[in-house]
Amino acid sequence: MNIEEKIQRTLAELGADNAEIVQALFAEVRAAMEAERQGLISGGAANDAERQKACRALRDRWLARKNGIISAIDEHWLKPSPRELKPLVGRAFNELRQAGAELEVSQLASGVPIKPDHRSAAQAGEATQVQPASADPVAAPDLTLPGAHRALGSLHPVTQVLREIEGIFLELGYRTETGPEIESVYYNFDALNIPETHPARDDWDTLYVKLPGSKDNAAVLRTHTSPVQIRAMEKYGAPLYLIVPGKVYRHDNPDASHATMFHQVEGLAVDRDISFADLKGTLDFFVKKFFGSGTRTRFQPSFFPFTEPSAEMAVSCWACGGKGCGVCKQSGWVEIMGCGMVHPFVLKNGGINPKRYSGWAFGFGADRMAMIRYGVTDIQLFYQSDVRFLEQF
Ligand SMILES: [Zn+2]
Repeated sequence: MNIEEKIQRTLAELGADNAEIVQALFAEVRAAMEAERQGLISGGAANDAERQKACRALRDRWLARKNGIISAIDEHWLKPSPRELKPLVGRAFNELRQAGAELEVSQLASGVPIKPDHRSAAQAGEATQVQPASADPVAAPDLTLPGAHRALGSLHPVTQVLREIEGIFLELGYRTETGPEIESVYYNFDALNIPETHPARDDWDTLYVKLPGSKDNAAVLRTHTSPVQIRAMEKYGAPLYLIVPGKVYRHDNPDASHATMFHQVEGLAVDRDISFADLKGTLDFFVKKFFGSGTRTRFQPSFFPFTEPSAEMAVSCWACGGKGCGVCKQSGWVEIMGCGMVHPFVLKNGGINPKRYSGWAFGFGADRMAMIRYGVTDIQLFYQSDVRFLEQF
């Protein structure tokens, strides 16, 4: 028996002689009403006229004074109900009537969406408002137009050179190591055989840093990557093969070849029986890889506190092949780095026995390498963030 049939009978005729059955009957009616309301909402309507029509039909089916379902329930269930069930039926009927207020047309219409494709929208079961597609072809976007362009960035020329240098040494079995840019005076100077009274400290125009809580300038912005030599020796011991690419800081006035921040690459090899021949062979391999296989090297005696003996290494001019030109100032050679055998004092400070182990080290400016590689004559160009410059790399 469906609802339409049930509401034409009295409760007695339906066998509803206790509270449980009466409540079940009202619950069935409430569920049916809610299902029809939800069905209308999820179905949507093709246009406003259709929406009004559908809402009015549902409203009348339930709320019409004549022949509405709720009126029928009033007439057949409530009025003739037996006295003992009357309070219960009355309460359930009132609740049903209150719920029926949701079926008023204005209430219903606000919840029923207008959908361009009535059928598929009903299948999707969504109650969202969808605007109908424009019928005007001119207003539609032109799909043949190019999309929004977003420029791709690239690696900074100094980063490119650093990666290339790292790659060459990684091939040789070296590891890459980093260290702090704010460094203690001990690691930056003392441990590297540059005591406070040593005139060599003046060779580095140092930027001192006052750390929070300390009274004096106990720290520096590292003036070279060499402190990482000591840190790495302490950390790994011997044997040790590493390079240290990183930023360093000097209190220099900026000009075409000086910047307050630039990049160094430090190299260190510590092992048994390491000699100056190993240094020459390794650096010769490196410059042939970096500048080309025809590159020759030249070592001249020099001085650094942390190496003994020390040397300046020059490479044959890549521009003139050694004949003399503007790049090499007519000498045929271009100096690119300092190097030497690690001073025994430095090995000892790193916790390595200089009687058992020896080593060699080098250091050079990566920015200078990038200037040489790309023919850049002013180091400042690297740090001005000018896209017209940077996009050339
Ligand atoms: Zn030259």
